[in-house]
Amino acid sequence: MLEPISTFYYSLNAVGRTTMITTPILLLAVVVLLVLERKFPYRKGLPFFREGLFVDLFWYTLVQSYFLQILIFGFIIAPLAAHFGTRFDLVSSWPVAAQVGFFVITHDFYIYWFHRFQHNSAFFWRTHEAHHSGKHVDWLAGSRSHIVEIIINQSIEFAPIILLGANPIVVPIKALIDAVWGMYIHANIDVKSGKLQYVINGPEMHLWHHADHEEVYYANFSTKFAFWDWMFGTAFLPQDRKPERWGLPYAFPKDYFAQHAFSVVRFDEKALAEKSAVFRAYHGVRWRLLGWVGERLPAAKVLQGWEVPQGALETVPAPRPGGNPEPAAAVAAATTDSSRPVASPVS
Ligand SMILES: [Zn+2]
Ligand SMILES: [Zn+2]
Repeated sequence: MLEPISTFYYSLNAVGRTTMITTPILLLAVVVLLVLERKFPYRKGLPFFREGLFVDLFWYTLVQSYFLQILIFGFIIAPLAAHFGTRFDLVSSWPVAAQVGFFVITHDFYIYWFHRFQHNSAFFWRTHEAHHSGKHVDWLAGSRSHIVEIIINQSIEFAPIILLGANPIVVPIKALIDAVWGMYIHANIDVKSGKLQYVINGPEMHLWHHADHEEVYYANFSTKFAFWDWMFGTAFLPQDRKPERWGLPYAFPKDYFAQHAFSVVRFDEKALAEKSAVFRAYHGVRWRLLGWVGERLPAAKVLQGWEVPQGALETVPAPRPGGNPEPAAAVAAATTDSSRPVASPVS
C-alpha cells in the first residue's frame, strides 16, 4: 500500500520531497499547539471558533498565501535570479543546516528592525495594523498580515536564499520554521520559559505585543529570537500580569477586502454596509454562507466576529448585527487617530 506513495516520493525533485516531509510536520505542529492551547490556556475560555477565524484561515492562510507565493517566487525572485545568476554565490558550499541557521538569524534580525520601523512610521503602520486587529490572539492569529507586508518581508526573506546560492531545499525548511514559530508565538499557551525567554521568543512576550496597552505599543518587536528586544531596549515582560485589552484602540474592519481598503482610506465598515448596496450585497453573501454553517455548527456563529443576524438568510440587506458599536461611535473612533496606535486607547 505504501508503494504508490514511495514511487510518487522518488519521482519528485529535492524541493518536492522536502515539502512531503515538512507538510506533515506542520500539520502535527498545529495539532500539538491546539492541544497545548486547550490544556494550558493563557486566557481561559478562548474558543476555537473565535472572532475572525474564517478570515484568518480562508483568506489570509489559504487564498492570500497561495497567490503571494506565485507572485513572490514567480514574478519577483525568478527574474532577480535570472538577472544575477550565480554572481553572489556565497553559501553553496555550506552544509544545509548552516545555511538554514544563517538565513533564520539574519532574516530575524531584519524583521526585528522592519517591524519596529512599521510601528514608528505612520505610513508603514498601515501595512501592519491588520496584524494587530484581532482581539482573540491564538495559534492562527499571526497569519493575518497585510498583502504589502508579506510581499516585502518574504521577498527579502527568500530572494537571498536563492541569490546567495543556497540549496533549494532551504526554502521549504525555512518556510516550515517560520510557520511553526509564527504559530507558537501567537498561541494562547501559558508558557513560562524562564531565562529562555531572553533567547527564544514565545507567547510570553509576543502576546503582550498584541495587547492594547500603551506600554507595549513600541515594545516586543522580536519574532523568533527575543534577544533583539533585550539587546536593543524594547523588551517588555512584566511578572504575574497579563493584558486586559487586546487588538487595536480604534475600530477596524472585519472583512478581508475591507481590511486592505482601510489601509488606503479610512471608513466605517458598518456604516458603509448601510450606505452602499454593492457592499451590502457582498456582506450578505458572507452572512448567508456563515448562516448556513452556523445552522449546522452553532459554535461557528462567531466565525466572522458578528453574530449572523436573524433573517440574514432571507433578506439583503440584513438587519444590523448586534453586539457592535453604533456606526457614529465607530466612525469617530476610526477617524480620530488611526494613523498609528494612539496614546490613550479609545474604548
Ligand atoms: Zn507589531
Ligand atoms: Zn504577531
